[in-house]
Parts: sequence; structure tokens; C-alpha cells
Amino acid sequence: MPNVGGPAAEKRKLLTTVVHSQLLYAAPIWKSALMYECHKKKLFSPQRKMALRVASAYSTVSNTAIMVVTGIIPIHLLAREKAEVEQMRRNGGDIEAKSNDAVCMYCDCPNDDAEHTFVVCDRWWRDRHNLEVELNMDITSEGMVKAMLQSKSKWDAVVGFITAVMKRKEADKRKIQAGAIPE
Ligand SMILES: [Zn+2]
Repeated sequence: MPNVGGPAAEKRKLLTTVVHSQLLYAAPIWKSALMYECHKKKLFSPQRKMALRVASAYSTVSNTAIMVVTGIIPIHLLAREKAEVEQMRRNGGDIEAKSNDAVCMYCDCPNDDAEHTFVVCDRWWRDRHNLEVELNMDITSEGMVKAMLQSKSKWDAVVGFITAVMKRKEADKRKIQAGAIPE
């Protein structure tokens, strides 16, 4: 997968949401382990790899610089945020404003994140199935990230899937906002 001439930065950035959803999946559980520098580093390494792809930067760029340039929030901070939100939810805190946006408009799943859209939601089963045939594997967020880093053609296949889904999702969202029913 070349660093230059690949998918545009915006698309690359979108892909990091897949990596994040994978890394953050069990964040509330392992959050306390992040007190240790070595654990933070381990977690940060795939994120740095993605950030470098987003910015088409050289691997010698410092961690701080690359995160600022790409606008990606360091994973340990995302983990802390996610854990705090979960805690608030458990405590019955008011996060309604956030949760309204998080309901899937197709299947009413209350957690419409990257994992739900790309791996779970039935709305996209046909696209997902086509990608599974192309990559010759079952689609999981972990598997998608692995495949993306394996070859340019697999990277392109995953990007194509994500881009197509996000485009139609955005279009449907606009239709719903305009009072129409999506197909
Ligand atoms: Zn859904």
C-alpha cells in the first residue's frame, strides 16, 4: 500500500474510525491498564500507522506532530472518553443529545458506530457480502484492518466499500431530514 497516490486524506481519515472502533471496543475494561506507559505505546502503534497513512507522512515524523496534522485524537484519550461516557450511561447521566444521533436509521440499533455500520447492520449486507467475496474472508473490523494493511488491492476494496456505504448513508440521512423515506 503506497503512501503517495492512494486514497484521499478524507477517505483515509474515515478508515481510522474503523481502527478506533476496534481498539476502543473493550475500552472501559482495559482503561485502567493505560496508567502504564508501555501499554499506551502498544495501543498507539496501529493508530500511528494509520495517522501516517492519513497524512502521507514519513515514518520519522514525531507522534505529536502527526496527530496534530491529521487531527486524530490519541487513542488513550479516546479510551478515557469512551469509558467516561459508559460510566455516565450506567449512572443514568444525561447524554440524550448524543444518543439521539447514535441510533441507526435503518434498524434502530442504539449504537450506530463504525462497527455497526460496516460489520453488523443488515442494510449493507449486500455490499458487505461482495467485499467478503472479494477479500475471501468474513468481515470483522479486525479482519478489515488486517486486510487493508496486506495489499494495495485489499486496501482499495475496503476503501471502496466504506466510501460507498458512507455516501449512501449520508444521502439517506439528508432524505430523512427532508421528510422522505429512504429506499
Ligand atoms: Zn443498522
